[in-house]
Formats: sequence, structure tokens, C-alpha cells
Amino acid sequence: LDVINSTSPSVSAAIVKELEDQRSNLKLIASENYSSLATQLASGNLFTDKYAEGYPYHRFYAGCDNVDAIEAEAAELACKLFGAEHAYVQPHSGADANLVAFFAILTAKVQSPLLAEMNLSDPSKVSREDWAKVRFAAHNQRLLALDYYSGGHLTHGYRHNISSHLFDVHSYGVDAETRLIDLDKLREQLHEIRPLILLAGYSAYPRKLNFARMRELADEVGAVLMVDMAHFAGLVAGKVFTGEFDPVPYAHIITTTTHKTLRGPRGGLVLCKQEFAEWVDKGCPFTLGGPLPHIMAAKAVALREAATPEFSRYTHRIVENAQALAQACVDQGLQVATGGTDNHLFLLDVAQSFGLTGRQAESALRECAITLNRNSLPFDINGPWYTSGLRLGTPAITTLGMGTEEMKEIASIVKLVLAEVSPAKTNSGKKSLTKYNLDQQIVDQARQRVKALLQQYPLYPELDTELLA
Ligand code: PLP
Repeated sequence: LDVINSTSPSVSAAIVKELEDQRSNLKLIASENYSSLATQLASGNLFTDKYAEGYPYHRFYAGCDNVDAIEAEAAELACKLFGAEHAYVQPHSGADANLVAFFAILTAKVQSPLLAEMNLSDPSKVSREDWAKVRFAAHNQRLLALDYYSGGHLTHGYRHNISSHLFDVHSYGVDAETRLIDLDKLREQLHEIRPLILLAGYSAYPRKLNFARMRELADEVGAVLMVDMAHFAGLVAGKVFTGEFDPVPYAHIITTTTHKTLRGPRGGLVLCKQEFAEWVDKGCPFTLGGPLPHIMAAKAVALREAATPEFSRYTHRIVENAQALAQACVDQGLQVATGGTDNHLFLLDVAQSFGLTGRQAESALRECAITLNRNSLPFDINGPWYTSGLRLGTPAITTLGMGTEEMKEIASIVKLVLAEVSPAKTNSGKKSLTKYNLDQQIVDQARQRVKALLQQYPLYPELDTELLA
């Protein structure tokens, strides 16, 4: 920090403030975690200066020997950890990993067969007219993915994402009554739509998915099964999700982030069956720019950590804690969607219980030192910005070492706050969707209880903020 401070005091001060912020607020954001200091240090070093377009031992740049070693190691670790046939560790994020996968599927399933039919093998030598045919063949292929309000991700065909420009997007959703994905209904949709890709995976769905069955359904219509396990990759690595709930044996292609339950650096990766490997490895230059060698180094560190029995125990505890927290919320009289969870997250309905928007609940809890995010609920009348729900997750607090007893205390604090928040009135006398009233005494009381919890589980105790300052 002294080195950063000498050129940019504002940045070093922000880093210290961020540490203080993370230490003094309880993190219930389902997509976040605390990576190890080994992972963080591996991601911040001189590897950042290296260009390495291409893939290991096949680069457009000279001097890539050390990047080759690191990227090959990270890919090998990923294959071993997940039992995958092939891994590609370059994607800079989960969104990038999805783009790499989409293009690999389009190339392998649509463009390459067409080129072969036209007796053309090298795309760079194809005439302008023929290339137009190949290009258009990949346009408007059908994608069937979980809709945003049912817990799907923006990159799964949301209107304001490139995926919706690339594909003719169709979506499946949860049942209006059970709030669960109904595989029989999905089967009907698959037969009706006959998509190129069936995309499974979620950002806000609290239940397990049966990937064995989804693959059977995809096979019935010749669709590619793509699974985006960004949220639950850690639970797959740690063997919480096994058998039919492990996507790796069943999906043709799998994407993930590396920074959520997997607890690595911010980034993405792709796993696939051998038939897609050639196209996945062309992610750079196809959709990605130069890889980030420092992040690949940190991925190698995190993947090694994820292969340990300790990590497996950690992932089992994440789910125990999520289930305990969901149950404690139910016991407090809060509305938990689907009544609980099978994974690391669950959703609270704050509109029905308290007449609040997710946005108001999120802000009020943040004022009380609890950080979580608002989330749309299925069929949400408040839309994606204000929302009616909250998403709660346990990866980060489990990393801190908290257990099921602490979950009861957290649920009790959440209830204390939400029960006291009321929507403020706008100037025209209507209920505000953002502003709220909350007694300062409640805020003080909640903050005190959060502080007492966090004091028992310090974040990065090795780092001393006073020294750093
Ligand atoms: N896929 C899913 C299911 C996600 O939940 C997310 C992020 O929240 C992403 C992809 C995108 O990841 P990133 O933010 O790294 O691009």
C-alpha cells in the first residue's frame, strides 16, 4: 500500500476503506465471497504486463512460457476438480464465458457443418458471398433459457443483453403456484420450440436442478445442453451437488464465474465435452481480447484450494447455513420463496410481508450494516429496478466461519429491521418506492448486534488497518 500511496493516495485510501467497510458490514450478497489472500496476491502482480493471445503453447506473442505454464496448470486443475473433458480458463468474467460458449456452439453446430457442406474448410478464404450465407445461418438460432424473473441471468437472453440480439430467445419460467421449474412443462416447450440450445442455470433460484433429466429432454429434440453454474460451481466442486444434480457429466458445455461459491478471483471459465474443445479454445480472438495472465494465476491458486477436503467441508456448510437462515426467517414469520433452499441462496418477499419494495428493504438493511441485494421475484409487479424481493446468500459469512447459531441471530436482526421500516410518502402523498422511515433506535440496536457478530469472526485478521493506514 505504501507503493500505491506514493503515486495515488486516493486509491490506497479507498482500498483501506473497502477493507474497513467489508469488516464492519455483514455480507449476505449471494454472488460474493472473500477469496484467500493467496488468491488475491496471485492476481495482483507483474503477470498483468504480459500479452498472451492464443492458448497455451500456441500464441500470437513471444515470451509466453510462464503464462503457458500457468494457463495449462489452471485448465488441468479445473478438469480434475470438476471431472471435465476440457477446460478453458481465459474468460474475464461469467458474461464472457457465456459468449465464448454461445459462439463455440454456433460454430460447431451451425457454421462448421455448413462450411463442410459447401466444401469450404478455411473461413479466412471463403468469399464474401459465401461468408454471408455462413454468417446468416448463425443468426436467429433459438435459445431456450430461464427467464429473468424466475431467476435467470441477464446473459441468458434478457432484452438489454447481447444474447437477445444474437438469438431468437424463448424462455421458461417457474410455476406460478410452486415457484419451481416444472420439467414436464419444459419438455412441452422444448418440443414446441426445438431450440439449438437449452440453457440451464440461474442467479436467483433456490432449488437444485436435475441435469440428468434436462439432458434427456435436450436429447429428445437434438438441443445442446448448456449449463451456467456461475452461482453453484463451488457446490459442484465441493461435492454438494452430485449424481443427477452435478451438471458436468450431462451438459455439453458449462460456463461459470470463478468468484462466487468457488471463491476464486473475479473471472470466468468454460468446461466442455471434447467435441466443442477446438472452438472453445478459440475464445481469444473470437470473442475475447488478450487473456489476463495474473487472473489465470489466481484461478490456478483458487482451483487448488477448491480441491481440498477443507473446501468441500466449507461448501457443505454454506448450504447448511443457507437452510438454517431460511428456516430461521420462516420462524420469524418472514416469507421465504419456495419455503427454503437446496443451495446457497434464497429469496424473501418483502412486498407481501411488509409492503416494501426490495429497494427500500435493501437500503434500510444496509443502513443497519447488513449488505444484501434486492431481487425480482417471479411475476414481480415492481419490475427489475425496485423489485419486491431480497436475495440472501451464505457463501461469504460461511467463509468467515459463522454457523447455524449465528443464522438465527441474523434472521432475528433482519426481522427487527424489516418490521420497523415503512415506506415514506412522496410530495404528492403517494407511497415512495425508494424512501423509507426507520427509527434511529432500531438502526443503532441492529448495528450493535451486527457488530457483536462480526467481532467474533474477523475478516483477514492478518491485515491490520491501522498499520495499512
Ligand atoms: N451467469 C450467472 C448465472 C450469473 O449469476 C452471473 C453474475 O452474476 C454471470 C453469469 C455473469 O458473471 P460476471 O458478472 O462475472 O460477468
